[in-house]
Amino acid sequence: MPYQSPISPGRSWYEDTAGERPAYPALDGDRSCDVAIIGGGFTGLSAAAHLAKAGADVVLIEAHRFGDGASGRNGGQLGTGQRAWAEEMEAEYGLSRARALFELAEEAKAHLLEFSAANGIEIDYRPGQMSVAHKQRYVDDYRRHADIMAERFGYPHLSFMDAAETAQRLGSTAYFGGTRDTGTGHIHPLKLVIGTARVAAAAGAHLFEQTPATGIASGGGKVRVTTPKGTITAQKCLVAVNAYGGALEPVSAAHVMPIGSFIGATVPLGAGSPVIPGGEAVDDSRFVVRYFRKSPDGRLLFGGREIYAVSDPKDIHVGIRRQIAEIYPALKDVEITHGWGGYVGITMPRKPFVREVMPNVISAGGYSGHGVMLANFVGRLYAETVAGNRDRLKLLEDLKIAPFPGGRSLRAPLLFLALNWFALRDRI
Ligand SMILES: Cc1cc2nc3c(=O)[nH]c(=O)nc-3n(C[C@H](O)[C@H](O)[C@H](O)COP(=O)(O)OP(=O)(O)OC[C@H]3O[C@@H](n4cnc5c(N)ncnc54)[C@H](O)[C@@H]3O)c2cc1C
Repeated sequence: MPYQSPISPGRSWYEDTAGERPAYPALDGDRSCDVAIIGGGFTGLSAAAHLAKAGADVVLIEAHRFGDGASGRNGGQLGTGQRAWAEEMEAEYGLSRARALFELAEEAKAHLLEFSAANGIEIDYRPGQMSVAHKQRYVDDYRRHADIMAERFGYPHLSFMDAAETAQRLGSTAYFGGTRDTGTGHIHPLKLVIGTARVAAAAGAHLFEQTPATGIASGGGKVRVTTPKGTITAQKCLVAVNAYGGALEPVSAAHVMPIGSFIGATVPLGAGSPVIPGGEAVDDSRFVVRYFRKSPDGRLLFGGREIYAVSDPKDIHVGIRRQIAEIYPALKDVEITHGWGGYVGITMPRKPFVREVMPNVISAGGYSGHGVMLANFVGRLYAETVAGNRDRLKLLEDLKIAPFPGGRSLRAPLLFLALNWFALRDRI
């Protein structure tokens, strides 16, 4: 029976193409260590790998299998900078802080590629990213953005595309213009998850799957994490549960909200297909963003959101095919072989949430759809922090993140209404 994540809908194409995948045991018995990590996605596993390589005694627990949350199931797009455009960050924080945050993200990008290369993790990296305007009124913003990136942020890899170039590079006339970024690209996320776990284990981290944390307590200079069959006593703890933490840690839960995002994989489109001939990844200007790219074997992997009830994974196929047909009418009847989803952890201002939530316990998540490079890097910054240098993690800790209004019971319906409103606005 093929494996299916119990916490995210549908079986992903990544599951079928990730290759050999070891299973890790469940924790059974009490342990003590330097650092306890809760959550086996990019953030937790990267922290475990870097900490263990630096000689720390690490125990990581994952409630299900590594990558079952967002990290093994996402769009694989690295992007550039923070989720908000650099000029928006400049308007909010001033040029020097915006530059520091931009450079941190550039380091995150370099770190992901260097870490995988140095540790022999094949992540199927493909270069190129296009961001495209679904309304004529946004085109000038993209043109200005390319100029600002070169002139004020020293980033030379972004070029503006007019409507004709956009149509040629996408194989679709659905967009009005955009930018092409040759300094970033896209990856197979589950291969990175599996490889990072392997590196962490080889460096001596103690990794456990099928082990949910049921409580965290901090006091007397120690942190105690409880699980169904054992307790972990540690000097420090990283909470890396992102959108999947439920009520485990209330401060994180108040600041990071799960929203579903869904992806469909088509059959291979064939060598002559006009769809994205250059192999770039694409994201668009909708607030409820659509993101797509071709896999190395020529499938269209297409992501979006407007699917509100998934009682059967085939619901994802139908919703995604409808969205594909709006951009590629010739694919209106294309066969979809895989449909899956996951929960993106978003924050109110769409910036990462990194905070010491109790003494010696840091929580990190809420990358708001921009975690492929950032989450992995935050794992490394956490390891740096444990080693005594908190300066770079502090750049993220200092971002002001307000909690969602409405508390745990009202915030989901409020967000649902807001997203519907934005989805409507995307159409007018
Ligand atoms: C469909 C989709 C598409 C996306 N596309 C992109 C993209 O193209 N580019 C991009 O940059 N970002 C994208 N993202 C976001 C990106 O995947 C995330 O930001 C990133 O993976 C977050 O990693 P993480 O380790 O913080 O969290 P996760 O990968 O979600 O890991 C959290 C883990 O914690 C575990 N956990 C929860 N509670 C407990 C507990 N009590 N005990 C033990 N373990 C627990 C969960 O089981 C889970 O495995 C996408 C997300 C989704 C869902």
